Amino acid sequence: MRIAIVGAGLAGLTTAYELRGGDLGADAHIDVFEASDRIGGKLFTVPFNDGPVDLGAEAFLARREDALEFFTELGLADSLVEPSGKSSLVYSQSNLQVLPRGGVMGIPSTSAPVAHLVSEETVRRIDAENDAEAIDWTVGEDRSIGQLVRERYGDEVVDRIVSSLLGGVYSCLADDLGVRATVPQLAEALDSLAQAGEKVTLSAAVAQIEKSRPAPSDGPVKPVFNAFAGGYAELYETLAEKSQADIHLDTFVSGITFDAKTSKYTITGQGVPGDTEAYDRVVVATPAPTTARLLSKVAPEAAAALKPVKLASSAVVGLKFDSDAGLPDSSGVLVAADQAGVHAKAFTFSSKKWPHLKERIGDGALIRASFGRFGDDALAREEEDTLVDYALDDLLTITGFDARAAGVSEIYTQRWFGGLPRFDDNHLATVATVREKIAAQPGLEVTGAWAGGVGVPAVIADARAAAQRILGS
Ligand SMILES: Cc1cc2nc3c(=O)[nH]c(=O)nc-3n(C[C@H](O)[C@H](O)[C@H](O)COP(=O)(O)OP(=O)(O)OC[C@H]3O[C@@H](n4cnc5c(N)ncnc54)[C@H](O)[C@@H]3O)c2cc1C
Repeated sequence: MRIAIVGAGLAGLTTAYELRGGDLGADAHIDVFEASDRIGGKLFTVPFNDGPVDLGAEAFLARREDALEFFTELGLADSLVEPSGKSSLVYSQSNLQVLPRGGVMGIPSTSAPVAHLVSEETVRRIDAENDAEAIDWTVGEDRSIGQLVRERYGDEVVDRIVSSLLGGVYSCLADDLGVRATVPQLAEALDSLAQAGEKVTLSAAVAQIEKSRPAPSDGPVKPVFNAFAGGYAELYETLAEKSQADIHLDTFVSGITFDAKTSKYTITGQGVPGDTEAYDRVVVATPAPTTARLLSKVAPEAAAALKPVKLASSAVVGLKFDSDAGLPDSSGVLVAADQAGVHAKAFTFSSKKWPHLKERIGDGALIRASFGRFGDDALAREEEDTLVDYALDDLLTITGFDARAAGVSEIYTQRWFGGLPRFDDNHLATVATVREKIAAQPGLEVTGAWAGGVGVPAVIADARAAAQRILGS
């Protein structure tokens, strides 16, 4: 059995690992083709002098038991670390404020958590929402989060809170994202109100979600996020090693063809070894637009369905300072989407957020500055010097931390062109169509952040499921 996987990001490497664990037979051969000169894709750990630090994903949702079990299976349980639990901030209306807790993705059930960030008129509007006319919601429907929250609570909640939080996860504004694909528990709560014949309002749906969460009396609350002490390199290097796959770097795949007579696939592209034999199975684990191109001959209908999925670009600058004196004692700050005069969309105060990093660097500070949102690649394309200047200026403006005086001793910049897929209100339907069309093509699978969700646990789950389908085919 010969299997080709295109893309050595998290999805491709997880697929390779999962396949190796399956019953492929002793002579099974797995080739992974990767266009860039490294494995990991959007997981990227860089070697700061004091130790490894992530410049792409930096954490994962620790409530996902399946991910925790997977990391344990890989022998990485001892590498998992917890955050300090310090609060997060939001910079809005040129003021540094506490980021509201509770609610869902910054959408509150009452005005109380957000009252310090919005006008009195918005406070009144939120608290009266449950008495307003019901949302015209059909079970199973979808719409943009921006549209939904603007209609119910007004623009301030979206522009000052919801878009800032979503921007940190999806590099998109609330108006570019669908409720069902990005805040599924909200879509489900709206569905359940409609199904029960109750009045469908935003505040009632959010209150229902809040009620379903464990109460403090249920015992100590586990942190929402975990990370790897040695960065995500621990994960992607372990997956690569344990998969025993042949990983071909600098190999840009440009075509996949299928011979119906032999039921074999051929992979072509720059750097693909000329003597590569045909494959029995192929898994495409690349971002959506590339996947659409690669499917054009073997699954043209799937390719056409996937084509409209767009990507959001961003850039991350990792900075090490000699001192953290004057830096707010918090995990980081999100910048409100309607805040003028600031370039960054968020800062992670990594050495405040993660005790293992603070321990490692002593008096210094590690800060990640994030730039760029969907539809605007300009910041992701800026020179490194410009981005660093923006970061230092913004830190001073937002927090009063004089980053230049603190002494910048190390800088790493990473641009993520086409970093994250945009999950608009049609996305789930698109994925369903692609999966249906792919299922008709024997021995072909697709996986990746666009298919199963952008979070690390979601990407892993999607890749494992794809591998299992391949094993069963
Ligand atoms: C800045 C940033 C921060 C993030 N933070 C978090 C976080 O804190 N927590 C979290 O859970 N998630 C986070 N994410 C999301 C998460 O990192 C991604 O969803 C996930 O890593 C995507 O994995 P993937 O394998 O689907 O895609 P990718 O990582 O994009 O992998 C695809 C691979 O395919 C390769 N490739 C592309 N075209 C070709 C071709 N033609 N031939 C061969 N190879 C090709 C690429 O080079 C790449 O290596 C973040 C993402 C970004 C960009």
